Amino acid sequence: MGIADNLKAIRKNIPKEIILVAVSKTKTNADILEVYNSGQRIFGENKVQELVKKSGLLPEDISWHMIGHLQTNKVKFIAPFIALIHGVDSLKLLKEIDKRAEQNKRIIDCLLQVHIAQESSKFGFGINEIQQVIKDAVQFNNIKIVGLMGMATFTNNKVQISEEFQSLKNVFQEVKNNQITILSIGMSGDYQIAIEKGSTMVRIGSAIFGSR
Ligand SMILES: *Cc1c(COP(=O)(O)O)cnc(C)c1O
Repeated sequence: MGIADNLKAIRKNIPKEIILVAVSKTKTNADILEVYNSGQRIFGENKVQELVKKSGLLPEDISWHMIGHLQTNKVKFIAPFIALIHGVDSLKLLKEIDKRAEQNKRIIDCLLQVHIAQESSKFGFGINEIQQVIKDAVQFNNIKIVGLMGMATFTNNKVQISEEFQSLKNVFQEVKNNQITILSIGMSGDYQIAIEKGSTMVRIGSAIFGSR
């Protein structure tokens, strides 16, 4: 199966109201164009330099999502064009995104990353910090918090993955409103579990583009 077939297969597995982010990190522009030509318009990258380079060379109607850990000193490079930042994990970062958004006369949509995995390496706010962060973020006029994002532990244990997604779903239920509508959970290995747990946005890389 080629990349376009993979995309079709994934689309069939996902209810159509769920937004698909095609994660194109490390993949070539030719690969991305193949997926683009099959109708996909949202692509996710996790490195600022690669994101900036690709966005300059690929079609302008692509909606680029930053899905990886974002350092404050790199926000300025993506602020002019980024459609959604998934991995917001500190107030310092929110403040910087707000500043750069204002300079670009934009309002930038952001997801708060929530730490749900057992692994200590995964970034994010604690579950019980989220309500306060949402309140604190009201001061930033050029930021719109539109939802939450999380990553489960990298494991084959479906019960564990399911429990981790459930913990995020619980917070999402508490904070969701007219503006906070996105729950970004689910990758190639766990998107079916994520959908069961109420995902509204999945981030899928290797199941579309092949392994990295
Ligand atoms: C790489 C990555 C994905 C996609 O992972 P796959 O397993 O290839 O689908 C999703 N989310 C984040 C944050 C990533 O870094």
